[in-house]
Amino acid sequence: MFVGEAPGADEDAQGEPFVGRAGELLTKIIQTMGFRREEVYIANILKCRPDTPGQTAGNRKPTADEMRTCVPYLIEQIDLIRPRVLVALGATAVEGLLGRAVSITKLRGQWQSWRGIPLMPTYHPAYLLRNQALSEKRKVWEDMLAVLERLGRPISPRQRGYFLSR
Ligand code: URA
Repeated sequence: MFVGEAPGADEDAQGEPFVGRAGELLTKIIQTMGFRREEVYIANILKCRPDTPGQTAGNRKPTADEMRTCVPYLIEQIDLIRPRVLVALGATAVEGLLGRAVSITKLRGQWQSWRGIPLMPTYHPAYLLRNQALSEKRKVWEDMLAVLERLGRPISPRQRGYFLSR
């Protein structure tokens, strides 16, 4: 199960998480892991798009209060899905789940636990869209390899080698 931050404009319009540009990249990551998008569950910390004063809606970081309001819904989702692994996409997702502010740079790649479920923090795909460096893509990919290992999924040499500089 993948957990993101909040719906953006595309998600708001379609009522589905991760259907915009970041979602396209997330779908690619999921497929490169060897899954179909329909085989994993995708959710957000916030269930509606954060308002931005002066605009109808925006992409600002959710407030602690907004997160507190929405997290019980996410917990219900996790309880129903009972995922074998949680992947938290970005600092807000980690903060919403673990209940404390974190440095995603420090925490990514290190297994955490959410009520006994292994939780892998990694960078948000929107970060990878902003920062095209191969080294950053590789970090996320290493986190996904760790997830595949945890799930006992076979990893091909091709999968092992993605984004390694030659
Ligand atoms: N970013 C998120 O965190 N969630 C979405 O659903 C879309 C973009």
